[in-house]
Amino acid sequence: MSEHAAPRPYSEIASYHAHVYYDPATTRGEAERLRQWIGERFSVTLGRWHDVKVGPHDQAMYQVAFATEVFAEFVPWLMLNHGKLSVLVHPNTTNPRRDHLVDPLWIGPALLVHGDKLPEESELEHAPAPNTQPTRRP
Ligand code: ZN
Repeated sequence: MSEHAAPRPYSEIASYHAHVYYDPATTRGEAERLRQWIGERFSVTLGRWHDVKVGPHDQAMYQVAFATEVFAEFVPWLMLNHGKLSVLVHPNTTNPRRDHLVDPLWIGPALLVHGDKLPEESELEHAPAPNTQPTRRP
């Protein structure tokens, strides 16, 4: 990369995912509690439970999809409330491999991500309509 290259604008980011990892044998209960807390407090899309490894992920997890406007409250709240769980927060741009491997942030210990299972180019993923109805303040 040229040292004169322009910085990437944050408008490249269409939305975010938080992947909440757990061990089905030992921490699924904690993952269930965190999922309930999230749904009660944030306007996000809670994805399905994946009790077995799926895609680039090396541990059981569920996905939380959210709009860029939600980041400033939701991500700091996750920092304080993830407990023993590892959470991968990544932007959604047109390069999923870079989003997951190079540009994400981890809350809790970082885990292996299988980048070979991710494309280097894709359509932008905008946040889906939220499927939660918050009833509490974060
Ligand atoms: Zn993701």
